[in-house]
Amino acid sequence: MSTQHLSDRINNLSVSQTLAMAAKARELTALGKDIISLSLGEPDFNTPDFIKEAAKKAIDENWSNYPPVDGYLELKQAIVTKFQRDNGLNYQPANIVVSTGAKQSLYNIAQAMINEGDEVILPAPYWVSYSEIIKMAGGIPVVVPTSVASDFKITPYQLQQAITPKTKMMWFSSPCNPSGSVYNREELTALADVLKNREDIFVVSDEIYEHINFSGSFCSIGSIPGMFERTITVNGVAKAFAMTGWRIGYIGAPEFIAKACTKLQGQVTSGANSIAQRATIAALEAAPSEIGYMVEAFHKRRDLVLHLVNDIKGLEVNVPEGAFYVFPDVSYYFGKTLNGVLINNADDLAMYLLEYANVATVTGDAFGNPNCIRLSYATSETILIEAFKRIKEALKEQ
Ligand code: PMP
Ligand code: GLU
Repeated sequence: MSTQHLSDRINNLSVSQTLAMAAKARELTALGKDIISLSLGEPDFNTPDFIKEAAKKAIDENWSNYPPVDGYLELKQAIVTKFQRDNGLNYQPANIVVSTGAKQSLYNIAQAMINEGDEVILPAPYWVSYSEIIKMAGGIPVVVPTSVASDFKITPYQLQQAITPKTKMMWFSSPCNPSGSVYNREELTALADVLKNREDIFVVSDEIYEHINFSGSFCSIGSIPGMFERTITVNGVAKAFAMTGWRIGYIGAPEFIAKACTKLQGQVTSGANSIAQRATIAALEAAPSEIGYMVEAFHKRRDLVLHLVNDIKGLEVNVPEGAFYVFPDVSYYFGKTLNGVLINNADDLAMYLLEYANVATVTGDAFGNPNCIRLSYATSETILIEAFKRIKEALKEQ
């Protein structure tokens, strides 16, 4: 038996580099190596008690039947209220679909909207799974590169240049995984202006890091005049509420798209986990200030990590305004030999750091930027200090 028996679809699919690196770190740890994993993006906090209590109550109240495919009405109502409260977006319950993580929300959208050969604009760096999810639907990712110099944000001119008659959508995250960049209202308005004369282009706005934002303000592109009807707003509870394992994501979308996603989900997974849905009602009804302690901790760690990164020769970073990653440009090391190892690219550097610093990171290649590596700072300050000490040591040139 071998891969020849598998579908072309699966043979052509890349493994998720974030999950692969996390698995590798776990494997090495199990072998007794002292690995610090800065690979996987997940909060190191526990799910807040008030959410856990809501889940326990849901179990006791026997919320154990199949839930509606698109989510419980009370949850959809809580999402509608959340979108109005935080984003100025006026969705109705018919616009909402709850899924098994924002990852499934994204997959649904791709399958529901993309035809073979449709182009999808991806400002790079983009979140690792976008390109594979788009390709699985037959779409063609059109990658628009950025760099530290532009705070990893695309300009209206770049967007204009990327548009062709085949452009179907643009997908982006703000705050961005992996760069931490946050587009402000002015910048989003300028991008929306470019899209004005192409009303057939839809935008996927992935706002899963919305609350982990140190910039002081947040803007959903769907709230820019002219954008609501063609924006699919993706969000979830994994990051802000430290609920990665609960697997709840959701969208707000034009009703015909919501219906299409529900149709697909109804044939594939049915409604998302009933207990997690009930718990999510409690999470979304809470004031965002309830999770302020986590955001504050991430902010402090961001400042610490910037200080630590800037202390290492050859790493060039932007100031990430949100999420919990730094995405240094490491191209200074390309072509250099460290401890006898020739570093040709970001993949080599990530593997080198794993072996010589025992620190797991993710190559920027997976995010569409081959000059960078991603490090998650969703871990304690003590661990971060130790990790960067090791990295600094390993990157010393002889
Ligand atoms: N979008 C972005 C930008 C992410 O970083 C993640 C990471 N998990 C997801 C979507 C998927 O979220 P979920 O865990 O809810 O599937
Ligand atoms: N979103 C997280 C990350 O980028 C989790 C991993 C994943 O879902 O792929 O690390």
